[in-house]
Amino acid sequence: MDRVRRSRSGDNRISGGRPREDSGAAGSAAGSAAEDAAEAAAEAAAGSAVRFAARVFDGVRELVYPRRCPVCDRPVNPAGALICPECEKLLKRTEGPVCRRCGKPLRSPLSVSMHLCPDCRMHPHVYERGCAVFTYHSVAGSLFRFKYKGRQEYGAYFGRCMAEKLAEFAAGPGTRIYRESFAGMLSAGKSTAGQNMAGQNSAKKASPQILVRGSARPDFLVPVPVSEDRLRKRGYNQALILAREISRLTGIPVREDVLGRVTDTLPMKNMTPEERQNNLKRAFQSFGNDVSLNSIMLIDDIYTTGATIDACAHALSQKGAERVFFMSLAIGEDAEGGY
Ligand SMILES: [Zn+2]
Ligand SMILES: [Zn+2]
Repeated sequence: MDRVRRSRSGDNRISGGRPREDSGAAGSAAGSAAEDAAEAAAEAAAGSAVRFAARVFDGVRELVYPRRCPVCDRPVNPAGALICPECEKLLKRTEGPVCRRCGKPLRSPLSVSMHLCPDCRMHPHVYERGCAVFTYHSVAGSLFRFKYKGRQEYGAYFGRCMAEKLAEFAAGPGTRIYRESFAGMLSAGKSTAGQNMAGQNSAKKASPQILVRGSARPDFLVPVPVSEDRLRKRGYNQALILAREISRLTGIPVREDVLGRVTDTLPMKNMTPEERQNNLKRAFQSFGNDVSLNSIMLIDDIYTTGATIDACAHALSQKGAERVFFMSLAIGEDAEGGY
């Protein structure tokens, strides 16, 4: 029974020769060892059968529903990768000088010399600092399909990019995490993005594939919530898909229960920045009473003015969150010239 339980819990170390607790009678040791060996063989066979079945299932699913590339939206070439190598080259990462607050790439000499974008120079933020993986323009079409056209499967590639960025971010400015070319290695590991993830806890016991260390390592990840209404219409929250994938790769847990969107925001087109901020502040509420002394990483798909992230950070800080960072998949670029 003991062995069955251990095996079910995923521990496959089977001690073939270990005496059984109930084998006190003389002469039963040899028989018991043989029994153990037989059991072990049966379990190993069952295990490999399950693994084989899983591989077959993955193969069939790949044939029937081939994973689509986040850039060209055709089946990924080569099959089994998360993005076509040629398409990956079209995505533009936030490299070069970036704003030390929001992580936006800086263009104008003044911004570069001050290490701050015009937005962050003019508006103080509630969050501590943040970063993004791609510039908005290079990923806009893909983001649209990811968010509105049901392409949840893109989350596998995007989540991995964000997990790597998180490792860089936590370790501190200027740190570069070595990246292999994606196409070859991405099929390793089981992504849950694009599958029905109901009830799954993404921070499983398996050792993390991407190590996140450093002073800015968050205690947990919090996806920016969408309203119930939007969730019903869209069927999923893209920020949660990203957060789960980052969690699966880094081992940092996701907390969906500490932040909620309590109201739908009013149309903000004609509002002043202050009105926008107040409108958003009412929209988010932190439900956590155990977030104090924690450092939290907010996860979202796009960062524009930072008003949404600030509203979330405000709600979490009111519950005592010590440090609030953010990470988004995409971010705009510094306004050209003038500043
Ligand atoms: Zn492609
Ligand atoms: Zn900035």
